[in-house]
Amino acid sequence: MILQTEAIVLKTMDFRETSRIATFFTKDYGKVKGVLKGIRKDHKKFGSNVDKFSVNDIVYYQYRNSDLHLISQCDLRNYFFPIRQDLKKSLAASYMLELVNSIMPTEEENRDVYQLMAEYLQSLGEVADTDKLVYIFQIKILALSGFQPHLDSCLKCHKKIVGRAKFSTQLGGLVCLECPLSDHAATILSPGTVASILHVEKNDWSNSLRLTFSASLKKELKYVLNNFLIFHLGRKLKSEKYLG
Ligand SMILES: [Zn+2]
Repeated sequence: MILQTEAIVLKTMDFRETSRIATFFTKDYGKVKGVLKGIRKDHKKFGSNVDKFSVNDIVYYQYRNSDLHLISQCDLRNYFFPIRQDLKKSLAASYMLELVNSIMPTEEENRDVYQLMAEYLQSLGEVADTDKLVYIFQIKILALSGFQPHLDSCLKCHKKIVGRAKFSTQLGGLVCLECPLSDHAATILSPGTVASILHVEKNDWSNSLRLTFSASLKKELKYVLNNFLIFHLGRKLKSEKYLG
């Protein structure tokens, strides 16, 4: 079957003498892996160099019995020059690619994730505060991939959370200060941090961008989001150490 879609390049690797294998996150079919035959020999064969995080229009032959398909056309749509000119922003883009590649299953359509990736890349080129974009992306991808933390009420006594509360990565959410908790890695979250996460979960990308992220909020978000993601992925991401 021949399929056509828009696709963001997650990663690539050289394949045999002249070819390259690329993993894309596509708008219509989710994560798709394909081989671009002869791309390293004939640079004019494809209308794109398949660089990381570029957006391309692709056409591919979908094989039934393999998850490695044949990419017949790949034309560049957006290269994101402003991101590539800034080291921190390119690292933040690479972190997003690695996170999506780890968290999303193969060949399962998810338009919301595609849109989130496109909005994140667009904003990376326009918004100065890179850390804020990373935190908003992390909160939204957790929710979209089914790992949304429980923040509305205490996981033990089910009372509504008012004021500070303990966040347990193991339990996946908040426990009030009155309830006993054996998770020694739990950290205290301030009400402002909880409110910011809930705001991002409930609002679209552009409304989430309007939030102001103070230094103390960023510190709490960085700790809690990174640990929560590491717990669910079962490992650290290679690109993680570059994050601010
Ligand atoms: Zn409680």
